[in-house]
Amino acid sequence: MDGEAEDLVLPLFSAAVAGQDLPRKMEGHSPPLESIPPIRHRSTLGVVEITRGCGRGCQFCSVALRRGKSLPLSHILENVRTQVAEGADTILLTTEDLFLYQQGPHFQTNVPAIERLFDSVAAVNGVRYVGLTHGTIAPAVLDPGMIEELSPVAVGISVNQHEASTHPEHRYAVMFVGLETGSVRLFKQFMKGKAYPFRPEQWPDVVLKGMEILNRRNWFPMCTFILGLPGETPQDTRESLDLLFALKDAKSCVIPTLFVPLEDTRLESRKSARVAELTDLQWEFFFTCWRYNLDFFRNSRSVQWRFNLRVPIYYYLLGRRLFGSVMKYPLLRLAHFPEWFLRRKLYLDFSGRTAPRCVAPEQVAVPEHRQRPELPILGA
Ligand code: SF4
Repeated sequence: MDGEAEDLVLPLFSAAVAGQDLPRKMEGHSPPLESIPPIRHRSTLGVVEITRGCGRGCQFCSVALRRGKSLPLSHILENVRTQVAEGADTILLTTEDLFLYQQGPHFQTNVPAIERLFDSVAAVNGVRYVGLTHGTIAPAVLDPGMIEELSPVAVGISVNQHEASTHPEHRYAVMFVGLETGSVRLFKQFMKGKAYPFRPEQWPDVVLKGMEILNRRNWFPMCTFILGLPGETPQDTRESLDLLFALKDAKSCVIPTLFVPLEDTRLESRKSARVAELTDLQWEFFFTCWRYNLDFFRNSRSVQWRFNLRVPIYYYLLGRRLFGSVMKYPLLRLAHFPEWFLRRKLYLDFSGRTAPRCVAPEQVAVPEHRQRPELPILGA
């Protein structure tokens, strides 16, 4: 079953139970909102769906061309109450993009609607924590005040805590944000709608400014990047590394993923990225991400030193046989080898002698032809 299932899944299950022949594959299409039934029982992680689809058009994404739609607030609250009635105290608001909820034309964020949603969910008797799944970064850059307005619920009753948070209880909001690449060329080719209303050329600025705005309000995003997009050149990987370097002190988790050509996307016929074929620069990207994550989330120095010692042992016993010497120096950076040594072997220089090539700008201006009276020209 590929796509949305409501219109097809009941007859399919009935046919299976009756022992009838089943089609090998079925395509589900977007059902009318009225035919999406409320849930009957508590779901894993307290998942409650708030939107479907997206429409930003990224070529690698299977929901890219499904127009975004929002479930009615009454439906969402009914599902929250069902979760709570069976013991859930945490509700995970599930969406491809939080900022699409009840959006206006041209991806215009409807902040009052999201606030109403947050407040209504938080007010349901029995809800202690609220979590978020995905969101795009451009709306935060376009309207930084929005992040502040949403923080009392997104941060204030988040289940996550980290000492780097300035919240009185050190809470922070998590949201998965697809950053995908630092290469403007690849961004323009495969996912330019993600930056809208900003231009694709502004993507590195949007990412850095967005991270600054989110971090300031204790939103620590989980950022995904894609390695091995079709046609990725060493220069593209270097540009992603430049962006990653500029995110070095960000409060976030950076997740490197490998390109997978999903069915029913514009890139479905392209070749998957394979871990055995990663280049030295791609390995550097991969392990730099995990170095950041370990440094930010690990809270015990003794665990760190034990880990650091084991990494070279892993490399000589197994890693180099599986993946070759191309992973060696990037892997040693994960193990905190001295930078005076690694800076001669790797692209990024962590010794402090080299300034990042990208820096967060003071402002990211919306191109004039995309400005609307209701959209502010962005400030810090
Ligand atoms: S913004 Fe995210 S959900 Fe939307 S099309 Fe792009 S990758 Fe898919």
